[in-house]
Amino acid sequence: MQYYDSNTFLYLNGKFSKAADAKTDLYGQSLHYGYAVFEGIRAYNTHNGTRVFKAKEHYERLKRSAELMHIPFPYNINELIKQTYKLLEKNNLKDAYIRPLVFCPPHMSLVAATEASILICAWDWGTYLGSSLQKVCISSYQRPNPKSTHVEAKASGHYVNSILATTEAKSKGYDEAILLDMHNNIAEASGANVFMEKGGKLYTPPLGNILPGITRATIIKLCKTLDIECIEKHLSVDDLKSADSAFLCGTAAEIAGIASVDEVSFPAVWTETLGATLQRTYKALVLEKQNYEVII
Ligand code: PMP
Repeated sequence: MQYYDSNTFLYLNGKFSKAADAKTDLYGQSLHYGYAVFEGIRAYNTHNGTRVFKAKEHYERLKRSAELMHIPFPYNINELIKQTYKLLEKNNLKDAYIRPLVFCPPHMSLVAATEASILICAWDWGTYLGSSLQKVCISSYQRPNPKSTHVEAKASGHYVNSILATTEAKSKGYDEAILLDMHNNIAEASGANVFMEKGGKLYTPPLGNILPGITRATIIKLCKTLDIECIEKHLSVDDLKSADSAFLCGTAAEIAGIASVDEVSFPAVWTETLGATLQRTYKALVLEKQNYEVII
C-alpha cells in the first residue's frame, strides 16, 4: 500500500507540506512509548460533494483522547475540520481515509508531555463494493484492562494489543479477532465494535471496556429510526456463538458481516439479517443518499 507519493501534501502544525519532505524527531516519546493519540475518519464522494463523515465527533474524540492521556490539545476543532477539507482538496481526494495524529516531542522520561504536534494525512480509499463475510476467532489476548489505561482513548500504544490479536488470528487462518474484556465478556475486535442479532433484536457490549465507536453510536441511532430494538449489555462467548447473526462495525470496516466465530457458523443468511439492513442504511447515510433516493 502506497500512502503517499512525491505530490502528496500533509498538514503539520498549521502548515501544509510535502509528505516526502516532512520530518519527525527520532527521539520522540510517541515513537518510543506509543504515547500519542489518533483518529481514523472517512471522507465520501457524495452527490453533495466530498463529505467528511462525522468530522466533529471524530475530532471531539481526538480531543478527549488527548485529555485522558495528558497530551496537550491546543487546537480548535472547527479549524481542524476546515484544514481537513483543504487537505483533501490539495490532494484531490474524494473517497479517502483521514488520519489525524497528535504526537509528542523528544523526551525519554516517563512524564506527561507539555507540548504536542498535530499531523493530518489522508489517502485514497476507493469505493466500497461490499466485502465478503468475515471468519473471526476469539482471541487469546484480552483488550487492555480499564484499570491499566483509559480504554476509551484512541491511544497509539493500545494498538500493540490489536496487532498481536490480528497476527494470531491470521496465523490461524481467520480474518479477524474478537477480544474479550477482563471478565471474559465480548469486548470488541482489533479495530471495530461488535453487534449480534438474536430473536429479532440486536445486542452490543456496553461502553466501559471498549472504544466508544462513532459507527457504533451511529448504528444505535439508526436502530431507533428503523424501529430495531438494540440492547447494550454484557455478552458472553456462548451468547455470541448462539446468535442468529453478527457483524463488526467501524469507520474503516463500515458494517462487515461475520460468517463464523471460531468454528461456529451463524445460521441466518446475511442478506436477511438486521445487519444487512443496517449496512444498506449506513451506506445511504454516509453517501447522503437518504433524501436523495426519495426525491429521484
Ligand atoms: N474499536 C477499536 C479498537 C477501534 O480501533 C475502532 C476504530 N476506530 C473501533 C472500535 C470503531 O470505532 P469507530 O466506529 O469510531 O471507527
